Amino acid sequence: MHGLMMDTPLLISTIAEHAEKFHGDREIVSVTMDDPRHRYTMRESVKRARKLANALGRLGLDRGDRIATIAWNDYRHLEIYYAVSGAGHVCHTINPRLFPEQLIFIINHAEDRWIFTDLMFVPLLEKLLPHIPNVEGFVVLTDERNMPETSLPNAVCYETLLAAESEAYEWPQFDERTASALCYTSGTTGDPKGVLYDHRSTVLHAYASVAPDVLGLASTDVVLPVVPLFHVNAWGLPYSALMTGAKIVFPGPKMGDGEALFELIESENVTLAAGVPTVWMALLQYCRANDKIMKSLKKTVIGGAAVPRSMIEEFRDVHDVQAGQGWGMTETSPIGAVNTLKSGLEGLSDDEKLDLATKAGRGVYGCELRIVDDQGSELPWDGVAYGALQVRGPWVCSDYFKLEGAAGAHTNDGWFDTGDVATIDPQGYMAITDRTKDVIKSGGEWISSIELENTAMGHPGVAEAGVIGVAHPKWTERPLLVVVKAEGHDVSKDELLTFFKGKVADWWIPTDVAFVDELPHTATGKIKKIELREQFADYAFPE
Ligand code: AMP
Repeated sequence: MHGLMMDTPLLISTIAEHAEKFHGDREIVSVTMDDPRHRYTMRESVKRARKLANALGRLGLDRGDRIATIAWNDYRHLEIYYAVSGAGHVCHTINPRLFPEQLIFIINHAEDRWIFTDLMFVPLLEKLLPHIPNVEGFVVLTDERNMPETSLPNAVCYETLLAAESEAYEWPQFDERTASALCYTSGTTGDPKGVLYDHRSTVLHAYASVAPDVLGLASTDVVLPVVPLFHVNAWGLPYSALMTGAKIVFPGPKMGDGEALFELIESENVTLAAGVPTVWMALLQYCRANDKIMKSLKKTVIGGAAVPRSMIEEFRDVHDVQAGQGWGMTETSPIGAVNTLKSGLEGLSDDEKLDLATKAGRGVYGCELRIVDDQGSELPWDGVAYGALQVRGPWVCSDYFKLEGAAGAHTNDGWFDTGDVATIDPQGYMAITDRTKDVIKSGGEWISSIELENTAMGHPGVAEAGVIGVAHPKWTERPLLVVVKAEGHDVSKDELLTFFKGKVADWWIPTDVAFVDELPHTATGKIKKIELREQFADYAFPE
């Protein structure tokens, strides 16, 4: 027997309508290429999204068509999010930091019809142009005054496009499983793979994310999404902020600039900031060097890569900011696990709380987690056993775009294999030990490169650390620690190796240390282990 409840579809446009009605006066502040501090309200944002939806119709775009963005985090990008998905098209967000070959691949693979681009990516697109012949036109995210001369065909100025349209627009109603957005994984091997979100998954993910033990977002919050709108929909913040009425502060092209982030946080009274560890390194470094303390900030959500213990400690002890780690992937929308203190654990010492905070987090309701061994048998949640992390839920991808059935990332019983290796403790806290392919196997036992990196990062002389397995005649592989020294410190190899004593098992301690000027990063800020391994391909441990 079915229940007797309404079956209204979970559409992204309903979030825009809700924001307009209940949070119309709430501000959205942006740093953009043509305005150092643009501000307007959610009401104006949704009004302009409706104008844009009209413009998309006039451009001849049909339901399901992919429309790409190559842009930083700002109000115009947000308008595109709502207009494109709300009108039934698919918003394909592109990471501009990808290599040109990858950009060409994904634009062609997605069959993008139009591309919305920030001013600064116009020259990049001009270079790609001969290789993306199916793109019909380009919209440059600026006003007439700043519109550049360009060889891009059908180049339109965004503000001119909007000015010609009416703000009257009825958001269409359709099946909530209709595709809404497309994001390609940065993939360190092979071609990038497209994850195709739908309205239902997006709205459910936003619902889940605002809960107190997840992001804990309220209308009184001021959120700073430093995580890019092209990286898994900025972790859903464009949706959850409008759902709750939290003020948004978009950093535009300034996301890697510690000073600019500090100024934005202070002047706009940011309470919650979200981003990958590398951006927080820049912010903390700036604060350290200039004796600055963040006053309004209450919480940072950090994910996308392992978060060093020292970072969580510095946020907590110097700035009184709760640094909550989260785990997720492009394939999981992305929120899968978030680390908040569970009832019953309040009595832990500060040090024990820090240890706990270095774990990726507890599974969020809606994203089931399990760990399995090589045979696919489930492993115990004892905090010791480690195995392949698999997930399942309504905002986890069921396949990749145009690769249906071919990617082999799902198990026969319907779980998605994340490619991460993890432990889960009896309280349900999951900790990532490695990517499957980054695991170091020494004498038949696994060593966690992430734990070694985190430990090294706790030394004040280390700015960044990467650990890779290098062939060893006796142990098959041994860990090599690759370090970028912190400015003004000249830490030695022996000092670093001694630092590990008592912090990890003796046989985990790296066999050697190499110093480099910088580590290679992926387009989303993770250490690019493949390139690091290539860089040290000829390396041999000292006798
Ligand atoms: P992406 O799809 O680019 O967001 O990358 C997802 C991958 O980032 C995951 O599969 C993990 O390997 C890594 N990752 C995300 N969050 C964490 C975390 N808290 N700790 C360690 N690795 C993480």
